[in-house]
Amino acid sequence: MVMQVTAIYPGSFDPVTNGHLDIVNRSRDKFDRVIVAVLVNLEKTPLFTTEERVAMLGEVTGQWNNVEVDTFEGLLVKYAKANHAKVILRAIRAVTDYEYEFQMALMNRRMEPDIETVFMVPAVEYSYLSSRLVKEISLLGGSVSGLVPPIVEDSLKKKTGSEG
Ligand code: ADP
Repeated sequence: MVMQVTAIYPGSFDPVTNGHLDIVNRSRDKFDRVIVAVLVNLEKTPLFTTEERVAMLGEVTGQWNNVEVDTFEGLLVKYAKANHAKVILRAIRAVTDYEYEFQMALMNRRMEPDIETVFMVPAVEYSYLSSRLVKEISLLGGSVSGLVPPIVEDSLKKKTGSEG
């Protein structure tokens, strides 16, 4: 029997950036199935609604047939288990990401020892890129061209009223 490995790539994706896409693109021949899972976080106030984030992700990952987009609420490990995923995929951009990710990985392992967190590193040109910065730049009227896919750039312009 060949084991099928499903990886969950969770996050806010508010909005998806070229850095996120770089990780998805690198991951898709490492796992049989990759589920990009948008966290429905009731505490944070996102710029884009969950539906908008899912729609943008769906559009920019649509050409990859083993990549799916979904949403989840509550405990990530429960969601991973329900989807028979053995891997949680996260990215580390810089040392600053490490402490939080380390804590999360160990806490998730404590809850579900069979699920492994796998860290990947994006291309250097995306290592300083974050959804937060992209939103800030866009809100201030700066250009985010090359940092996000064109459809996200358009959505940002509409949302923030900037010409970019
Ligand atoms: P979260 O709120 O869970 O951190 P994000 O959407 O910001 O959600 O990030 C989701 C995942 O994508 C995290 O593992 C994060 O480290 C990674 N990530 C964020 N920005 C980039 C980027 N520029 N390049 C690669 N990975 C990134």
